[in-house]
This record gives sequence, C-alpha cells and structure tokens, in this order.
Amino acid sequence: MLNEYVSDISSEDSKKVSSKEHGGIALFSQTLSRHGLQLNRNNTHTLQVNLGMLCNQTCRHCHLDAGPGRKENMDAETTREVISYAQSGKFETIDITGGAPELNPNIGMLIEEVFSLAPRIMLRSNLSALNDGGREYLIELLKAHRVVIVASFPSLNETQTDSQRGSRIFQITIDALKKLNAMGYGREGSGLELNLVSNPTGAFLPPNQAQTEKRFRQVLKRKWGIVFNNLFNFANVPLGRFRQWLVETNNLDKYMEKLYSSFNPCSVDGLMCRSLVSVSWDGYLYDCDFNLARDLFMGGHKIHVSEMSGPPQPHSHIATADHCYTCTAGSGFT
Ligand code: SF4
Repeated sequence: MLNEYVSDISSEDSKKVSSKEHGGIALFSQTLSRHGLQLNRNNTHTLQVNLGMLCNQTCRHCHLDAGPGRKENMDAETTREVISYAQSGKFETIDITGGAPELNPNIGMLIEEVFSLAPRIMLRSNLSALNDGGREYLIELLKAHRVVIVASFPSLNETQTDSQRGSRIFQITIDALKKLNAMGYGREGSGLELNLVSNPTGAFLPPNQAQTEKRFRQVLKRKWGIVFNNLFNFANVPLGRFRQWLVETNNLDKYMEKLYSSFNPCSVDGLMCRSLVSVSWDGYLYDCDFNLARDLFMGGHKIHVSEMSGPPQPHSHIATADHCYTCTAGSGFT
C-alpha cells in the first residue's frame, strides 16, 4: 500500500505513469494541468536548513520519521557550506528545522554566522528539546539575535498531545512557553516573535485557522497566562511516520481522497516551494522539506549546496508527488 501512490517527479517517470491513476487519485501534475496550472519557481527568498533527523520525540504525525535513534545530523563542514550559500544567496528568511535542530552541535555556529545575512531567522522547535535544562545558552542566543520561534503545539488537550508526541510532553511544552513569555517572546512590542503550529491528531484536515487561533489564544491565556503572536494550523503530510500510521490504521486511501477532493487551485500561486529552497543534513537541495522526506531532489536533480552559487532560477521546475495534495487542500499550506 505504501508504494501505491507515486511521485510524478521526473519527466521520464512521469511519461511512464502519466495516463494512470493510483487508488483513485490522479497524479498531482495531471490535476494541475486539468486546471490549466503549472508549478514553477518564482523568486526564491527563503533558505530552509534541515539540521538532521535526530529528535528527542517520536511524534506520530512526523513526516520525516525523526527520532532519538536517527544518526543523520549536519556536520560542521556542511554547516559551513550552508553558511557560504546563505552569504551568496541574499535570502530574506533563513528557516532552521530538523528533527530537533537544538540537538545539532553546530546550531550555535549557524545562528551566529547567518543572523546578519537575512532580515528574518526562524527556528522550528518542538519546545521540549529547547527546554531540556541544558540549552540556556541557545535560548539566550535566540533572544539576542531576535530569532523567530515557530513552536509545535498540536492540541490544547493534554491527553491527546501526550498520545501523539510522548509522555509529559504537554506539560514540558507549557513550561517552555511560559519561560519564553517571561523573556519577552510573544509579547507585543518586544520584537521577539513566538508563533505556534497546531495540527490534527488524526486522519482529518485541520479546522478553520482563524477560529483555532482564537480558541488557543483564549485558553492558553486563561489557563496558563501564555501569549503568542500567530498560530498556523497545518494538515499532516502523508509521509514518514504519519504515512506508516495511516497504513496501519487503514486510513491512507481515505486520507488521500480527502486531500485530493479538497484540491484548491487558488492555493497553487502561494505554495512555499515557489519561493523556498530546502537543504538537507548532508547538504543536498530540495524544493521543500516534504520532498526532502520523500527523497525528491530539487527539480529532479541531485545538487549539493556547495555547487550552487545563488538561489534557484525563477521558472525552474519543481518536483511533485502525491503528498503535494496536502499543500493544496482547502486554504493551502504555505
Ligand atoms: S509538497 Fe507542497 S511545498 Fe513541497 S513541492 Fe509539493 S506542493 Fe510544493
């Protein structure tokens, strides 16, 4: 079942499968064509750096299958190559992710070197790795360089969160948010931005973002006095551990159909792959972090960051596959 859905990445493969449908789901490229659309790059202004698959948690919804047993972590040499690329690329945003990027020993060097290269530096954090008692230096570094923190906070329900992310994670996350608030993160006028990311705990699409943000704001403030800037409500991507869970619970077909039937052609213009390039722990380039998880290289070509002299060219090809339906379902995923 895992292989039933396919990628339409290379023109070669695309020719082989272009007339077929899989499990009732048309190839993503076919759906785009049917709507008279093409998915090509615009100007690339965001460099996303994936520091590795190592994580202290084993969340059920993880599209990367990251966890404590993973060994892939960006080394110092590759980190320096990424820094050189950031220097030449003149990116507006540098977006640092993982796994749990806090666990990579080179994260301090990366932040120190890139903070002056782009107006906006972001760190995606599960909060438990940041608040594990041994990372005070990193928290201070983030504050000093006004790094935007984008924190996973899947649910307001403690039981649901712990079952999705691990025992006691909910309480550890609440403690971390309180600590960040105390430092000024999420507080108006502080210049320290704290955004939350919530995602469904099962095989369904997220509810309305504005309503979810309002509810999270009210409950977090009332129960724990926690404030934040924005909340993003993302659908889970059917890759990695989440895909495995969909298969095991016999939900993959249903979930794919839901994504497919929610295809919104208006979301294509704002897809993040049009303006972002993602570099993996070993220095290879992808159109986004989901393609990285699927091993679909940028535009279908295996290119190392050390071979690039600047951002990918506007109009260049973007590799796609069935998981792209996650980004175009409903109001989209940017
Ligand atoms: S998964 Fe989403 S962001 Fe990535 S290439 Fe597909 S549409 Fe673009």
